Amino acid sequence: MPGEKIQLTEADITTLQADAIVNAANNSLLGGGGVDGAIHRAAGPELLTQCRTLGCCPTGEARITKGYRLPAAWVIHTVGPVWHGGAQGEPEMLARCYQSCFALAREYGLRTIAFPAISTGVYGYPKAEAARIAVHEARRVMAENKTLAAILFVCFNRDTRLAYEKALAEKP
Ligand code: ADP
Repeated sequence: MPGEKIQLTEADITTLQADAIVNAANNSLLGGGGVDGAIHRAAGPELLTQCRTLGCCPTGEARITKGYRLPAAWVIHTVGPVWHGGAQGEPEMLARCYQSCFALAREYGLRTIAFPAISTGVYGYPKAEAARIAVHEARRVMAENKTLAAILFVCFNRDTRLAYEKALAEKP
């Protein structure tokens, strides 16, 4: 809904005009499949060149680069946990991804940031639980970062959209 600070859209994240889009990267930061591959293709080879200078990124942390040929000025690369059943710290690690991205958003004074559903593709995190964590962290940051005007959750398919709609309908 326009005017809402936390929004959903069904789109390809590489087309979005946010200040930053978030990449669900892997520890190497050197590109991969899924949304990572799409972002590198759309940003152009300069993105990989910059990523090579960053070294590895531990799970739960985030790194920022320019957006190059993307409409977004910045790309925040974060590494989500691989799902191993949920008892190996996956929820805390996924929450840390969002927190790490929001810390960079604050540092860079970003007003709008678009997220894919981190870890819910190849990394196998169940969509409903992942959406709940994403929405929880978004609500928390919106209450304390006044520069941040909008957080956009980009749903690549209908199941993802339904999971976010359900999470947003739940009471904080
Ligand atoms: P992970 O390894 O963190 O699971 P994936 O890229 O496999 O990362 O998937 C993360 C999410 O990104 C999935 O929900 C997938 O459907 C979604 N996705 C894939 N391509 C795009 C895209 N171009 N734009 C937005 N979301 C995407």
